[in-house]
Amino acid sequence: MRVVQHAAYGGPEVLETVEAPDPEPGAGDVVVAVRSVALNRLDVLQREGPPLLPGFSLPHVAGMDVAGDVVAVGGGVGDPVVGARVVVKPGVSCGTCVACTLGDDRRCAAVQVVGGSRWGGYADLCLVPASHVFALPPHVSFDEAACVPTALSTAWRAVVETGRVGPVDTVVIHGPGSGVSIFAVQLAKRAGATVVVTGRSATKLERIRELGADHVVSESDGSMVDAVFEITDGRGADVVVNHVGTALFPTSLAMLSFDGRLVVCGTTTGGTVELHLPSVYHAGLRVLGAGPQSYGSFVEMLGTYWKGGFTAVVDSEFPLEKAALAQERLESGDAFGKILLHP
Ligand SMILES: [Zn+2]
Repeated sequence: MRVVQHAAYGGPEVLETVEAPDPEPGAGDVVVAVRSVALNRLDVLQREGPPLLPGFSLPHVAGMDVAGDVVAVGGGVGDPVVGARVVVKPGVSCGTCVACTLGDDRRCAAVQVVGGSRWGGYADLCLVPASHVFALPPHVSFDEAACVPTALSTAWRAVVETGRVGPVDTVVIHGPGSGVSIFAVQLAKRAGATVVVTGRSATKLERIRELGADHVVSESDGSMVDAVFEITDGRGADVVVNHVGTALFPTSLAMLSFDGRLVVCGTTTGGTVELHLPSVYHAGLRVLGAGPQSYGSFVEMLGTYWKGGFTAVVDSEFPLEKAALAQERLESGDAFGKILLHP
């Protein structure tokens, strides 16, 4: 099979398309012929190095969000069968540690991530446990399915499970173009909240408004904090979803209402901040890390998605061997929606 791997850290030029042996499914495994795989920021961060996930090793094949056909199954696998159209859950808990046996797979210390700490979907074939592939309904395409796992999981943890967003809340989501933001807006709207999106690009802000945002705030139109207080009649936001990390952390805190919740679910601009504690405790602010998603939550989330009503947005598509170009598109910051590779 062909894989796009990197055997050294660096720019997009370290990505190389090479031949690798086809994976052999062991007991409980399946091999998926990748039809569509979505890029994520982690792909770029771990190409640049140092790696972020424990268990990472070079050469590495990125690609967390895999959709395709099952082409081989290992011993003991009754479901799925060869030919099934599936999407992969990238976080693979070990199933045997104390946490996993207690049903608390979020705490699994031996968790692996497809395309993060084991080989992923920048390849013709991808080896995964049968327990971590899920059948696609007929109405969901491979491209749509590839948009879902990481982006919707992150948004789901942030908006539904951690932020516990409800109808009385005004939610601010930073950055209109990312897959996480696109789904976070839709989840917050489904929860009945008022949704505000902040960003730089007028074009992207207009597109996110079309996807349901009630208000958009341009970073270039003066203070975003003032704008949020104006929208909320001086109250401030009940929830801010920050998946960009350091850059907007002070701004996020400053736009919160009394007892407001700041949900942290990403660190693309950096992971270290200075925190003015008096402003946190005087206003009862809560800084909440979104954390990993449980297996059961992932199943519930997919079930909700399959019922329909969501819009997955594809920015652009590239053939597998153009992975470097695709990553450059991601790094440009110009994308609106997910960038896909087709092996
Ligand atoms: Zn475990």
